[in-house]
Amino acid sequence: MTQPPQISPDPHQAIREQNLRAAAENTANEARYADPRDAAARFPFNGRWTRRDWAHASLFATLGALVIAMVPGFSNVMRGAGAGDGPGLTTMSLPLPPLRAHAARPAEQQRAWDVVKVEKGQTLGSIFAARDIPASVMHRLLEASADRQALTRLRPGAELGFDVAADGSLLALRYDRNDTQRVELSLAGDKVVEKVIERPVEVRTAVISGKVGKSLFHSARKLGLSPSVITTLTDEVFKYDIDFDRDVTSGDRFSVVVEQTWREGELIKTGPVTAAVFTAKGKPFTAVRFERNGKGEYFTADGRPLKKSFIRSPIQYARLSSRFGTRRHPVLGTSRMHKGVDYAARTGTPIMAAGDARVVSAGWKGGYGNTVVLDHGKGHTTLYAHMSRTAKLKRGQRVSQGDVIGYVGSTGMSTGPHLHYEFRVNGVHRNPLQHTMPPPEPLSGAALAQFRKQTAPALERIRDVEEILYATVPARPSAEDPQVAAATTPARAHKG
Ligand SMILES: [Zn+2]
Repeated sequence: MTQPPQISPDPHQAIREQNLRAAAENTANEARYADPRDAAARFPFNGRWTRRDWAHASLFATLGALVIAMVPGFSNVMRGAGAGDGPGLTTMSLPLPPLRAHAARPAEQQRAWDVVKVEKGQTLGSIFAARDIPASVMHRLLEASADRQALTRLRPGAELGFDVAADGSLLALRYDRNDTQRVELSLAGDKVVEKVIERPVEVRTAVISGKVGKSLFHSARKLGLSPSVITTLTDEVFKYDIDFDRDVTSGDRFSVVVEQTWREGELIKTGPVTAAVFTAKGKPFTAVRFERNGKGEYFTADGRPLKKSFIRSPIQYARLSSRFGTRRHPVLGTSRMHKGVDYAARTGTPIMAAGDARVVSAGWKGGYGNTVVLDHGKGHTTLYAHMSRTAKLKRGQRVSQGDVIGYVGSTGMSTGPHLHYEFRVNGVHRNPLQHTMPPPEPLSGAALAQFRKQTAPALERIRDVEEILYATVPARPSAEDPQVAAATTPARAHKG
């Protein structure tokens, strides 16, 4: 437990106010967080912009430009909008005479789709209600549909198409059953006719390689790596081995094998990363993705998990405010043992499980306030105190490393928002920053054999590219730009 100095005559009032303010700011942040368009909100400002913040900001700022470059239709639209250059073309929309009746439409005509993007919190019912389409029509469509779930569990960002007659009645509804199937439900008299349109996708494997240059994100973005792929590399694959805020220099390089899903000439999905090499300070770190128990994890080329048993700190971008060990009590002036470490962070900052574990307890625990205790096996337990609230956790429930288990607060004996984190081995408190953590188990036996078979093609691709770029071909002197190579080939062309 921690007791920073008390400042005002009525500390509780001051703290409450401070926490309320922080909570209010945080709620605003969370709202923006949910909106993928507001990229800046994904990296909350913590008082100082790190290299990573700047890199991410520039990355997202340029995305809009990239999207325009990638969609051929857009560039024509943009050109038309430019005034002064080329022959002037003006289009004007004139009011059309009202269509007499929708009965005049032939059955097999072109549908006039009014496309709606589903927003967070919207349901099919609310979308229908907003368009004044009776619920009875919705129920008829749902009953006729072969897969109600695709319609009743709408994901934010999903597209729905409405074909509405001049009198406002619904003629047809269109939705995407999955990445490859689009469904049209047409209302014809009492009947509902379902039409399934196949939209084939092609998965291609891209090998992208470059130098960090001025910034990893700038270079990676130039090479066509998506923000999610870059975040996978920095915040997942290599986060245990490379500190991207400090360790990386302009001469460092990377190669990434990534799957790209294309549909009708459009890149609809990038990922997962199947293999990557990052050379930091002259030392190469290799990662390769292997699926076991239906879950993708990253390993070294010889089958050791990159993931450590415990992460360094259970919250990101937080300041260590109090260390482990004997310290003078800030209020009482006496010496006492601090049995954990403290991280100062704003109220509402997510707290992650330090390792895979079972929940021992989640709830109020005296002076600790809202607290979560996790059992990681082999006598290792962790404790997270003073949370504003815990996540919805049940005793005995399994959590994975990195899962959010609660949010920073100032409950219990605490005078400001922070996380108090304890690490125990067989019941004895240890310093989580110094204790040697047990290494994760390497793959062996059948799993190792399967790993070698599954990962060989990606590893071979990455070695080829690295060899061509950085060994065989003499380096061209280049002041600023990263050395660039991007190759795309169909995944089916794999050797072996
Ligand atoms: Zn503490």
